[in-house]
Amino acid sequence: MPVLTDIFTARRDPLSEEGKRFVERAYAFAEHTHKDQLRKSGEPYLVHPLETARVISSWGLCMHAIAAGLLHDTAEDTPHTLEEIKKEFGEETSRLVDGVTKLGRFKFREKAQEDKKLELLREENFRKMILAISDDMRVIFIKLADRLHNMKTLSALPKQKQERIALETYDIYAPLAYRLGMAAVAGDLEDLALPYLFPKDYKWLQEHVPERLEKREKYLRGVKKIMEKELKTNGVEPVELSFRAKRLSSVHKKLKKYDMDIEQIYDLVALRIIVKTVEDCYRVLGIIHSLWKPLPGKIKDYIALPKPNGYQSLHTTVFCVDNKITEFQIRTEKMHREAQFGLAAHWAYEEEKKKNSYKKRKAVFANKKEAAWINELQKWQEKRGEAGEEFMDSMKMDFFRDRIFAVTPNGDVIDLPHDATPVDFAYHIHSEVGDECVRAKVNGKIVPLDCALKTGDIVEIQRQKGKKPSESWLRFVKTSLAKSHIKKIMRDKERGNPLSALWNKGRKKK
Ligand code: MN
Repeated sequence: MPVLTDIFTARRDPLSEEGKRFVERAYAFAEHTHKDQLRKSGEPYLVHPLETARVISSWGLCMHAIAAGLLHDTAEDTPHTLEEIKKEFGEETSRLVDGVTKLGRFKFREKAQEDKKLELLREENFRKMILAISDDMRVIFIKLADRLHNMKTLSALPKQKQERIALETYDIYAPLAYRLGMAAVAGDLEDLALPYLFPKDYKWLQEHVPERLEKREKYLRGVKKIMEKELKTNGVEPVELSFRAKRLSSVHKKLKKYDMDIEQIYDLVALRIIVKTVEDCYRVLGIIHSLWKPLPGKIKDYIALPKPNGYQSLHTTVFCVDNKITEFQIRTEKMHREAQFGLAAHWAYEEEKKKNSYKKRKAVFANKKEAAWINELQKWQEKRGEAGEEFMDSMKMDFFRDRIFAVTPNGDVIDLPHDATPVDFAYHIHSEVGDECVRAKVNGKIVPLDCALKTGDIVEIQRQKGKKPSESWLRFVKTSLAKSHIKKIMRDKERGNPLSALWNKGRKKK
């Protein structure tokens, strides 16, 4: 069972004394609120918030985020407790707890679309909504830490719940983590979901992969020895040489592409070399290529051209000892840390620098090698032309300010422009739903059809069979999709009217 001090020892950079006391108080509060509660697994409930907070701390996040991790399940459905948190721990922590609680209300359900493209769009909209609702980066980090622990204890839940949560993890949260540059977290989440989502494949993988992996690892120990010697001869001092076994979920993805043919996989295990400087990275690449011939098309320079999520590294695949095809990854310590913890690493860095001037902070973010979407964020910030202070302090996520994400009662997210109405929403579900729409409920209450929807609204459209849209809707709908449908029906109506048909005829002759 984890204990409070695990939160402190999990960090690379220690918390201040003030921060420690703050976290201790949050721990006492969580202990009190969850006392006598058990999880479905039979463990004391406290284990869950404690483990969540430990992970948040290991990512280097601030005391507010850690405290919110400890408190994240205490406010569920009770505004009473949220008020208390605010009084005890202040606005910042209570806002984070509130954000995580809100996120918990949105549940992604089983595949709804047969069409693969539509299904991908549906997932993408859900992810965008999660980001839009979070409005503070730290809310997402806390949610990811929460989900990691929930996935580790998923076996205790009923089967149906297991499947829903595993699917949501695999399709929504893992890709989100990946896009935030947290590849290790994304991979862990996928690995944990695998046995629930693909039980047959999982069994197959367990039977086929382990022995290959062991064989390869033995071989790689030999390659590692050669590399160590070569680096020494060439005067490169490595920080670390390690081999990594390709994680099960990525083996799975690749095998799917090759019809589960294990022979097609070159990189079941790879050698990773971590060095001090970028120059050393390229030197090491040169050393490897002077020893072994590279496979054409397999040399990837993600240092000069980082992946869109900011990932940096050099990759090459060579005909190695005994002509065995082997992958190498070369990177600096900084790149390695960011590849594992992604944006959380940047965020922690920003926290440390909080006392510096805004200009300095901005310079950090202006670095071209930063993750591409941090640049996006910065561009957006410049466009908005506001003082950056407040913005950077909370890392707000409202770059979706022109869009809103409203949800059907089934949990499908509809992506709409700002101020869109229930009629727009209805037309974006289906043209017939739009045409036959007579009434709308938002979060359980009947609303006028021209009201403006907000992100996170749950919208229920009531229909009347055979009903036609009203021309007056054109005055308030915001989307061109709704407009064009309404106009089309109006034209058809006109055509159906004998007088207007005559009139149209007369007009054509002219
Ligand atoms: Mn939780």
